[in-house]
Amino acid sequence: MIAVPVSDTIKRTDGEGVVQDTLDRSQLWAVQTPQAFQYQLIREAYQKAERDGFQGTDDASLVERLGHPVKLIPGPSDNIKVTTKADLRLAEQMAREKGMASTSSEELMRTGIGYDIHRLIEGRRLILGGVEFPGPKGLEGYSDADVLTHAVCDALLGAIGSGDIGQHFPETDARYAGISSLILLKEVGQLVEQAGYRLVNVDVVVVAEEPKVGPRVAEIKGSLAEALGVGEEYFGIKGTTAEGLGSIGSGEAIASYAVALVGRA
Ligand code: MG
Repeated sequence: MIAVPVSDTIKRTDGEGVVQDTLDRSQLWAVQTPQAFQYQLIREAYQKAERDGFQGTDDASLVERLGHPVKLIPGPSDNIKVTTKADLRLAEQMAREKGMASTSSEELMRTGIGYDIHRLIEGRRLILGGVEFPGPKGLEGYSDADVLTHAVCDALLGAIGSGDIGQHFPETDARYAGISSLILLKEVGQLVEQAGYRLVNVDVVVVAEEPKVGPRVAEIKGSLAEALGVGEEYFGIKGTTAEGLGSIGSGEAIASYAVALVGRA
């Protein structure tokens, strides 16, 4: 049985708070769990306790009643017993310090996914993640049609369970005509904050035959980071092609996927 020497001074009272005597601390141990026994022994101990109508506060006390020696083994001092709310807070704090995932509501994590696709047409600017890619074609859309940023917005809105970009920024609202999607992302960031969450990370894949986003990943991270008021290390940005297949492969469209993770602020 694991246990730790008692560090508090222990006093026996008369039951009404008046001290009768002070126990010799050097002989006292606080018992921890788990306790381990040979199966036959603990089974016999429980059967005897049931016959006698005895209720113990731990398994070992039932075995002691058999007259069987129970040996104490020093246990770790941080193996605390969780009984009160204060114990629970202490246990959560220790779990955090050890880098262990806590299941407390304060540490709740949520994920969201976003997907968007826009058609490539002549005579539009091509904006991806707030960064302009010069060329003859750009993405068609009501705002600046920044497909990458739209996917990130939807992932974040999904993570907080708050609908999608079309609900928050409808095309029927003239305010959003030609607007930079980074402004929309900034507002989404505020919604995340208002919901009581903070960003943990965002990962993005852009699917495009042209252009290559790889060389401009740092710029894209910078503009997304600025819109959300976080560091660039919060973002993963990757580009891939559709291997010439389908509407993306033929250069008619660009699509983007994003996932976002948020945690309780
Ligand atoms: Mg869109």
